[in-house]
Amino acid sequence: MIVEQSDYSSLRNGILNGTPSVLNLVSDYLKRIKEYADLNAYITVFDEWAQEQAVEVDQKIRGNKDLPLAGMILSIKDNICIRNSRVTCGSKMLGEFSSLYDATVIERLRDAGAVIIGKTNMDEFAMGSSSENSHFGAVLNPRNTDYVPGGSSGGSAVAVAADLAIAALGSDTGGSIRQPAAYTGVYGFKPTYGRVSRYGLVAFASSFDQIGPFARSVYDTALLLKTISGYDLSDSTSVNLPVPDYTGNLTRDIANIRIGLPEEYFTQDLQENIRVVIDKKIQHLRENGAQIEKISLPHTEYNIATYYILTTAEASSNLARYDGARYAYRADNVADLKDMYTRSRSEGFGEEVKRRIMLGTYVLSSGYYEAYYRKAQKARRLVKEDFDKAFSRVDCIITPTSPTTAFRLGEKIEDPLRMYLSDIYTTSANLAGIPGFSIPAETDQNGLPIGMQLLGKQFDEQTLLNVAYALENN
Ligand code: GLN
Repeated sequence: MIVEQSDYSSLRNGILNGTPSVLNLVSDYLKRIKEYADLNAYITVFDEWAQEQAVEVDQKIRGNKDLPLAGMILSIKDNICIRNSRVTCGSKMLGEFSSLYDATVIERLRDAGAVIIGKTNMDEFAMGSSSENSHFGAVLNPRNTDYVPGGSSGGSAVAVAADLAIAALGSDTGGSIRQPAAYTGVYGFKPTYGRVSRYGLVAFASSFDQIGPFARSVYDTALLLKTISGYDLSDSTSVNLPVPDYTGNLTRDIANIRIGLPEEYFTQDLQENIRVVIDKKIQHLRENGAQIEKISLPHTEYNIATYYILTTAEASSNLARYDGARYAYRADNVADLKDMYTRSRSEGFGEEVKRRIMLGTYVLSSGYYEAYYRKAQKARRLVKEDFDKAFSRVDCIITPTSPTTAFRLGEKIEDPLRMYLSDIYTTSANLAGIPGFSIPAETDQNGLPIGMQLLGKQFDEQTLLNVAYALENN
């Protein structure tokens, strides 16, 4: 299933010379998307519009317009808005609802010459770790179709892994870019909170959500990150800091970089072959001059509980807007207003979303607010302080992305707590607002990829890209 894959950087010269034309490239991708429809990676494919975009970009190329992403064929997670096209969030609730405007990231990508080919399948409202919680059916892992691709941005990860797009965007609230990147063997970057505008991203947990790229190389990741990053007046949480030249500054020279290995992330629960592969990578970094030291992030054990209290609280508030009145789905034959709200929400949302709305409402209720929500906010602060301390000693932290490789379809869907634990190494970056990068390490004996996670200081995406660059193809 997996074909010989090129990244954008190696296709770019050809594209700029018209071989292939962007239009031909789009046609090839549209064909492949149909051929591999069983993977269920896409919810919407823009057959016509993608070709229109391609014609436009081909014209601009002929006019010698400088387009850093000319002809980069992209797929976009279906919780990111594109004007006049439906945005489902993998939910029945949004039905045919179509967006009135482009997300800021979409504007930036299109201005740079990228072509958007479709919207990808995902866990409903980005809640999940396997891409099985979708109204549009489960996504399959192209490395082995008995296994999940991870979630919630599973469709985007699969699009990149199976070459159904050159690169993609996903969103990451607690690991939804990094974990599926690890399970499918591609690169997935969650930027620092505030680095990339969330304008036009449907909110799950607003103080955790970030948009980020999936790609097949470090260079492509850096290129995409550079394009989508930066201050945006429309998002008050976006940060007004200059965006470094991530591609221009890429270097494999990591001599003197200090790397920390947190003992809490390398415990009994970690699958043995993942530990072995990460050890090898660390050895490589050491041989190239990096200083490796053991560190401690003592509040790690509270990550999952803190994450699930705070994100469900935020989600219960964010999802209150889907009431049957404002967006697509409304139950039939309702008796009165209250019946309309109740039945529209009961029928429009799936199980996992309802579970989280109930949990979130509970932790915010007046009797439990102090005991859960307030306490979790304090725990979030402690997790952040652990990282502040660690980053006074090291420049980059290395961990596994997930405690296991991809699991089988259906294996965890009945057991939400077990499902939640697959995010045990990724939620901390969102709690602390720091950048996290999952990079493909090796493939195990079953053909399942192993991912390794790099964590960095706030707004220091560059160090993570450079460490990844030093490890690429090694
Ligand atoms: N799997 C995590 C969850 O279900 C993370 C989701 C995400 O990052 N969007 O909450």
